[in-house]
Amino acid sequence: MAPENSFFESGLLDELKTELDKCVRCGECRSVCPVYEQLKLEKFTSRGRIALLDAITSRDLELNTPLGQTLDNCIMCLACQEKCGSQVKTERIIPLARALVSRKQGLPFIKKLVIKGLTLPEKTIRQAALLEPLAFKSLPMESGLRRRFPLPYVDQNQYIPRLDWPGFRASSPEVFPARGEKTTVSFFTGCLANHAFTQQAANLVKVLNALGVSVQIPKEQICCAAPMHVNGEITIARENALKNLEALSGRPAGQKIVILCASCGFTLKKVYPHLLADSPELAEKARAMADDVMDISEFLISQFDPKLLEEHFTRPLCQGLTYHDPCHLARGQGILDQPRHLLNLISRGGLVEMEKPDQCCGSGGTYGLVHKDVSQQILKAKMIRAEKTGVKLIATGCPACMIQLKSGVLKYQTGQKVVHIVDLLATALGVK
Ligand code: SF4
Ligand code: SF4
Repeated sequence: MAPENSFFESGLLDELKTELDKCVRCGECRSVCPVYEQLKLEKFTSRGRIALLDAITSRDLELNTPLGQTLDNCIMCLACQEKCGSQVKTERIIPLARALVSRKQGLPFIKKLVIKGLTLPEKTIRQAALLEPLAFKSLPMESGLRRRFPLPYVDQNQYIPRLDWPGFRASSPEVFPARGEKTTVSFFTGCLANHAFTQQAANLVKVLNALGVSVQIPKEQICCAAPMHVNGEITIARENALKNLEALSGRPAGQKIVILCASCGFTLKKVYPHLLADSPELAEKARAMADDVMDISEFLISQFDPKLLEEHFTRPLCQGLTYHDPCHLARGQGILDQPRHLLNLISRGGLVEMEKPDQCCGSGGTYGLVHKDVSQQILKAKMIRAEKTGVKLIATGCPACMIQLKSGVLKYQTGQKVVHIVDLLATALGVK
């Protein structure tokens, strides 16, 4: 049996065709696609990929290697999905298209490496953390690590976060209790905040504790499965979804799950119910859990009176700042106003919008590794717009965007600092 037959004979084909059939070929999606903006070829638009997938799934076109690469060249920024009047869900099409491609052609080496790394036992992270200084050196600035010698996939100016062992969760108590507790939340850390952006994880806890919110750390949680899902590794993604559903099931009914990573939040809210759709009972559980998942900015704005928050911000920021919308926060979860509201409170109205703040930074997880040139061109455009604001601080709400933007600052020497919104909240509350 040809390898792709396992796709054609699975329910995945019907799911894919349902989405493809919605497209009326209007081409509206082209105007917002950052990949098309750089490459100017129809085949890289949502419409172009849908036409190719139509032909492939109808067996009119054979899926060869160049076609596989074309189908893969999407950053999953969801700009086309937002623009589309026919509700074509790119968030469904791309993972399924990649599942089809990987069953025939296998995953590119770097994607395999990333996914393998995220599914290996935790002790592997320890080995990686120990070996990291051999390949990367630290510089006397708050800029992560830099490579010591030429390495595939890693540019000279690439920001490499320091790996932390044993990681945030393993070194945390089960609960961080708040004085004068008003409520309790569970914290889904995601891999990056657990092993690289541990300062941001700690800041999230301090911010919530300072506002009277106790924070539980469910210890059995694992990778949210975003890297597996977007790359078409549906079986592994489903296993992770099941494990996380279980890990987060011990909460009292209705307890919120707070997240600081845009892609983790998007995956728990929007992807898990689809991944578990083959079991009505599990899908229902996933939907119920999704209702409790909240980005940190969404949680704070929904739970606290802005006036009260402002009173708590006793150390406001005395400089202007700009904000980059993570794709999976803005379009994936519809969260645009909440971070801006908080940033304006922290800075007493100091938010300076860049042009197209919600256009992708070019990261896209493994996209930036596989399609480096396009990723870097998109990043360059973002950095030009960020620099034009004249401010020295770029805030965002996703560790993956932070890596990309920090690399942009180093590469284009803009002299700006990239921070997560929880860093600024912790400073403004005087708990950093
Ligand atoms: S905007 Fe939607 S319907 Fe129109 S071409 Fe793009 S994907 Fe198809
Ligand atoms: S998700 Fe983004 S990169 Fe992919 S086709 Fe849509 S607009 Fe283009």
